Amino acid sequence: MYNPKSLKAEEFISDEEILDTLEYAEKNKHNMELIEQILEKAAPKKTGRGVECAGLSHREASVLLACDIPEMTEKMYSLAREIKEAFYGNRIVMFAPLYLSNYCVNQCVYCPYHYQNREIPRKKLTQEEIIAEVTALQDMGHKRLAIEAGEDPVNNPIEYILECINTIYSIKHKNGAIRRVNVNIAATTIENYRKLKDAGIGTYILFQETYHKESYEKLHPSGPKHNYDYHTEAMDRAMEGGIDDVGLGVLFGLDMYKYEFAGLLMHAEHLEAVHGVGPHTISVPRVKRASDIDPNVFDNSIDDEIFAKIIACIRIAVPYTGMIISTRENETCRNKVLGLGISQISGGSRTSVGGYAGYSDNERPHDTEQFDVSDQRSLDEVVKWLMDMDYIPSFCTACYREGRTGDRFMSLCKVGQIQNCCHPNALMTLQEYLEDYASPETKAVGEALIAREIHNVTNPKVKEKALANLEAIKNGSRDFRF
Ligand code: SF4
Ligand code: SF4
Repeated sequence: MYNPKSLKAEEFISDEEILDTLEYAEKNKHNMELIEQILEKAAPKKTGRGVECAGLSHREASVLLACDIPEMTEKMYSLAREIKEAFYGNRIVMFAPLYLSNYCVNQCVYCPYHYQNREIPRKKLTQEEIIAEVTALQDMGHKRLAIEAGEDPVNNPIEYILECINTIYSIKHKNGAIRRVNVNIAATTIENYRKLKDAGIGTYILFQETYHKESYEKLHPSGPKHNYDYHTEAMDRAMEGGIDDVGLGVLFGLDMYKYEFAGLLMHAEHLEAVHGVGPHTISVPRVKRASDIDPNVFDNSIDDEIFAKIIACIRIAVPYTGMIISTRENETCRNKVLGLGISQISGGSRTSVGGYAGYSDNERPHDTEQFDVSDQRSLDEVVKWLMDMDYIPSFCTACYREGRTGDRFMSLCKVGQIQNCCHPNALMTLQEYLEDYASPETKAVGEALIAREIHNVTNPKVKEKALANLEAIKNGSRDFRF
């Protein structure tokens, strides 16, 4: 029986409820009156506390996703843009993945790191190699990393992950520093989540891959990840272990996208119902080509149009949740979805173990790559590209460092207060980037952007302080935040 408050996977991600939802959505996909009502419910409203959004239930959002009337799709896109503008403005947070190890005991059929793949060399970074990788990432200008590792209790035990996090935070190279380490490792125990929390991680990210249990078991035929319930209940254990910010995601292309979409929103509703706070982020990866992996064998792959619609509908349904897109997607696709709700993107990424140190911007090692990187531009190119479109690339990590995580972050965010911090923080961290890492062309574009955007800081005291901080950054000071 469906129960969002239950701690049992089969009850909070109830197959029956998803199938009923899909039937309801199909029946109502041309019900204009209902669709208008749903869009009206989701629209931002001015309240005494600022701008607020009600969000949508998985049923309501599924009706939007099922609706194939072009005029209504346009309305969804424009609402998604409005919500994005209200809570995220034109800021895009930047991050990079750091692959620690590709040893893995699982058998995920869509991932080249599956243990039966004998073609791929296995590699695990030593602490010295991590120092070299992180130094290279700092030299690019990154401040926020997502660490990735396969599941292997012998080669990648939790002690190894903790040691790596400690090493990453300890590296101070020139003006560089990694200020937030997000962690994407296999589902684990409450005790291990507590250790990760104590190590100072930012978000714990775990992709569900697919919410369809039968498909899940087929796609993960062996290894600990085969256990659907253990995997699906991981976020509850993470929160029980004290991790406030968790990141959900499904790998689109593995099962029916409408099923995944409903499951993803039910998971978000479950976290809110049980822990009082929804997911911090949602990632929207799609299956990609890699060693031993042909994405064409997955017959549920989705095209760019549907992908954009999924992103817009997620933005409308969970307005306060950050949305992440990686370099799996090419420039054209990233361009389209940025306006529809994406709030974080990776730049200059390498998806191999040891892919940064010792390689120039145009060189990339492919031997241990997890997937093909479609967007191969350098961070400097991505930063300039964003600014040319009037987005502000932000290297901000302030909330995490000010302890604004979990429900503290969400309650600020829900009344639109977070914008009093985000905008000046974005400009100050961008100024740091321009001073320390940007090419002359990028720096010129960035200086002009900051000069324009500082006038959008409406609070006069904040504006005055931000202007003083920007000046101080030009004179060599670093690490200011609101
Ligand atoms: S997806 Fe993760 S768990 Fe699965 S094979 Fe790849 S690295 Fe291992
Ligand atoms: S102030 Fe907080 S929410 Fe805003 S960009 Fe920085 S870390 Fe993110």
